Amino acid sequence: MKSVGRLRRSEVGSLSGRKRREPPGGGRALEEWAMKLITVQKDPEEIDGLLGDASAVFLAGCGTCATLCRTGGVAEVLAMKERLEKGGRKITGWTVIPIACDDLSREAIQENAKAVDAAEAILVMACAFGVQMISECSGKPTLPALNTMFVGKESGGGVYREICAQCGDCVIGKTAGICPITRCAKGLLNGPCGGTNHGKCEVDSSVDCAWTLIYRRLEELGRLELMEEILPPKDYAKASAPRRFDLSELLASDSGERSDEEMVVR
Ligand code: SF4
Ligand code: SF4
Repeated sequence: MKSVGRLRRSEVGSLSGRKRREPPGGGRALEEWAMKLITVQKDPEEIDGLLGDASAVFLAGCGTCATLCRTGGVAEVLAMKERLEKGGRKITGWTVIPIACDDLSREAIQENAKAVDAAEAILVMACAFGVQMISECSGKPTLPALNTMFVGKESGGGVYREICAQCGDCVIGKTAGICPITRCAKGLLNGPCGGTNHGKCEVDSSVDCAWTLIYRRLEELGRLELMEEILPPKDYAKASAPRRFDLSELLASDSGERSDEEMVVR
């Protein structure tokens, strides 16, 4: 295995390990803000179907989110290697890219060029960002071994919760900072459905009803009057694909660089 040795961005907001970097001037540790792209592994049958008759395969995992999710770290890549070899496929090489959604993917493919060239397909055990990065630079059929689920925030004990679906039309200013899109099973914008049961969701009774949480927090904040405000239908056009964000004008007007001091989250 060859792996990319540099972790350019790993010090700042590291997604993987528990590296901690105290910000200059003493702001909150950047690690506390880390989000993870949550992935689950596809069924073996689906992976085999994607690989089709490819007899030689290169494997690529990811050292950050997929390692954390136990879906694409070294152990999982080696387990995949063993399974595919047992099934009669040749593994031409493998790597675990420190951050697969980063340019490091390009470098990893270059560093493993011989093994990649010898493969008929690349199986990527990273989120869809990683798959697309590798697909763009490998010139080989690049196949996902994982399903990308959501951007998760740790809520303790290794549990990750979706807290934002990036809808492009944020309403949490009216809902006490709790997102009804991601936390209500029905994505209701104007109060609970009729199924709330003792503060639990009717769709999944192990989950708190988002609107009960919103009500209680508004009450704590002394802002219950917001419950009476009718939110207009959301403008989902703002979330229509393909979304794009263009920084070029801003970058043209300044150097685009930020000093460490400017990067500190306080
Ligand atoms: S309302 Fe939309 S932008 Fe705001 S937290 Fe929920 S999904 Fe994210
Ligand atoms: S019970 Fe609460 S969280 Fe569940 S669908 Fe109804 S309003 Fe949404």
